[in-house]
Amino acid sequence: MTRSEWATLCDARLKASGITNFSALEICDVGRESQGVSLAPPEIELLDNAIKLIDVLQYVRRAGGVDPVLINSWYRSPDYNQVIGGVPNSMHLTLGAADIVKVNWTPKQVADLLDNSPYRQQLGIGRYKTFTHVDIRGIIGRSSPARWGKNV
Ligand SMILES: [Zn+2]
Repeated sequence: MTRSEWATLCDARLKASGITNFSALEICDVGRESQGVSLAPPEIELLDNAIKLIDVLQYVRRAGGVDPVLINSWYRSPDYNQVIGGVPNSMHLTLGAADIVKVNWTPKQVADLLDNSPYRQQLGIGRYKTFTHVDIRGIIGRSSPARWGKNV
């Protein structure tokens, strides 16, 4: 599947699910390179996981007045995940994880919001200096919750 085939297919699926504020290339920037390895598109079946994660991202987006949620990293294909140093069973491989920033919010505020949200028992939340990792591990049958990192 090419970058443009992925974008067409995924954007149609998002639109059919009523999602207008996240796009295919945010979910997977097909062709992005790291150390000579190109990010490949995901299996289309995994889009169900992305749509479940988007419910959580919309919650973050709407909290305290609508500010955009920016995506640093969402899907990673296995070889791409390996070269950037991701853990082998990374939730990013499932489309059910994203590293996010909410405009006008600190990473600590975003992580605290998620940690106090109705989803909290089902989430993985990673606290980093410049972004927050959120994943839906409990929603797709992996053990949950999980927490790591700390905000300074
Ligand atoms: Zn992550």
